[in-house]
Amino acid sequence: MAQKILIDLEKIRSPQGKSCDESPPEGLYGPFIDSHGLKSIREMAVFQFTCRRCTDAPCISVCPADALEKNEDGIIDRSTNLCISCKSCVVICPFGTMMTDFFEYHRDKENYYDLRDKKELDLFIRNSPEGAVQLVDMEEDPEQNIFKLNDHILVKERMWKTDNM
Ligand code: SF4
Ligand code: SF4
Repeated sequence: MAQKILIDLEKIRSPQGKSCDESPPEGLYGPFIDSHGLKSIREMAVFQFTCRRCTDAPCISVCPADALEKNEDGIIDRSTNLCISCKSCVVICPFGTMMTDFFEYHRDKENYYDLRDKKELDLFIRNSPEGAVQLVDMEEDPEQNIFKLNDHILVKERMWKTDNM
């Protein structure tokens, strides 16, 4: 079985002695640019597994740049090409889904680790909070709150579920 990268979102959110302005490292796993711009693994994971998919999503209505929309699966999709980093969506989200640092470096690929590259993956693991990123030989396991983001990435998150999901 091929190794997968397991990212624990709860540990990523934990400051673990870091200062408030220190953000966890951001990873990409290609193809990572779509028609809406650059997508980090953490942003994709948060919108897919942490977001509660509000019916009348306040994040969408507050966005002054029309940068947020729901895709056909009800998952929020941010256009990094349109986003002006005002962070109004972060403030209005009643569940604290988004972290402000998502919006700091969104146009500069140099600030991301390309996890397809072994050296960059090692650095990403080393610079992430302890135990937050691991290489594993396993499949998705919802019993352990481990879900598949794509063929190479698993995400651990306590997912909020409704009958609609
Ligand atoms: S940070 Fe970006 S996505 Fe969020 S409200 Fe502002 S422009 Fe919209
Ligand atoms: S307001 Fe927050 S929880 Fe609701 S859809 Fe937007 S990001 Fe998700």
